Amino acid sequence: MIRRPNRTGEISIFSGLLYCADCGEKLYYSVTNNYSREQAYFFCSNYRKSTANCTAHYTREKVVYALVLESLRRVLFYVQAFEKQFVQEQLDKSSGEQRKELTKKRRELAKSEKRIDELDILFQRIYEDNVSGKRSDECFATMSASYETEQKALKESLVQLKADIEMQNDKTANVSEFVDKVRCYTEIRELTPAIVNEFLKLFTRSGVLIRQRKSCLFPRRG
Ligand SMILES: [Zn+2]
Repeated sequence: MIRRPNRTGEISIFSGLLYCADCGEKLYYSVTNNYSREQAYFFCSNYRKSTANCTAHYTREKVVYALVLESLRRVLFYVQAFEKQFVQEQLDKSSGEQRKELTKKRRELAKSEKRIDELDILFQRIYEDNVSGKRSDECFATMSASYETEQKALKESLVQLKADIEMQNDKTANVSEFVDKVRCYTEIRELTPAIVNEFLKLFTRSGVLIRQRKSCLFPRRG
């Protein structure tokens, strides 16, 4: 994540991480009022471009800071106190529909793999029949072509099925990675760029999001 200083050269640990909850565009950082950090705020970049694009809302940096710190503390506490529940909740977020889909895909995968093996055996059989003269060359050619076409299609769909299943399995791995990292922090007293960055990566990868009124902390996914 590159944090660019704003026009006055100031930089915030949240620069480049905040998005407008109304229009989805980036929030810009501004320090005015005699460059007092106390007054620094984030505003919608889209509204800056044209006032017709969004509304004139802003969020103070110190408010964002307090919210993020509080949210992180809450997540940390929750994960540490109710780890099993947290993992289950995160996994349950993938709806029942998705889980049904995954079961269907696993079954489909097993069926395709079985059929691919079967086709190998069938091919072997017609080949032997052809060599021994039980099956004509013409018949062998037609049947072997049909087996080959079917097997090729199955192998192609296998690649897609495996990728889909892998993606769902990744989610489980990401949630455990999140929990492992959270275990490393006993307490967060203040926010540093390292902590913000670390949790940004974890939040986006594991799908945990903190949402707050006019600003959505951390990039939208998808
Ligand atoms: Zn906006």
